[in-house]
Amino acid sequence: MKNERKAVLLPFESFREKEAFSEIKKVIEAELSLKAVVAGESIAEPKSVFSLSGGKIDADLLLSYLQKCTEKNILAVFTGNELGCSDSDFVFGAAIVNGVCCVVSSSGFEGNTGRIAKEALHEIGHCLGLTHCKNACAMRFSSSVEDIDLKPAKLCSACKKFLAAKNI
Ligand SMILES: [Zn+2]
Ligand SMILES: [Zn+2]
Repeated sequence: MKNERKAVLLPFESFREKEAFSEIKKVIEAELSLKAVVAGESIAEPKSVFSLSGGKIDADLLLSYLQKCTEKNILAVFTGNELGCSDSDFVFGAAIVNGVCCVVSSSGFEGNTGRIAKEALHEIGHCLGLTHCKNACAMRFSSSVEDIDLKPAKLCSACKKFLAAKNI
């Protein structure tokens, strides 16, 4: 491992797809040269983040909360609740580009570990500085489940080069 940073994968209690973690871990470690560890105990989302209509989580609020919880490691949290953010009513995930935290929702693809793993790779990729990519690449933007299915659980050579230049 070139990088000592870890990706800490934290399932909130609402995230039921615990069996997805072996695939998430495999995809992250294969594509990002990061060690992925699953946090032992699930906790509930802070109540204050459920501030959008329909009981959705405000992803921006959640990320600013999470930012204070980690300094070096990337904290990737998983929720079973729906997410919205300032740009969109509904998102599968959200991250701070070049930041330390991201969130992935399993809402809409329960039982499909492949989709969850792809979105986890996408959001953690944002934390490492990657932006959206137009190639056949996990960093392609997805606004529907079909979009997710069309992209691979891999980074394209351009994104890999970008990370290699940053020594990740
Ligand atoms: Zn994205
Ligand atoms: Zn790419």
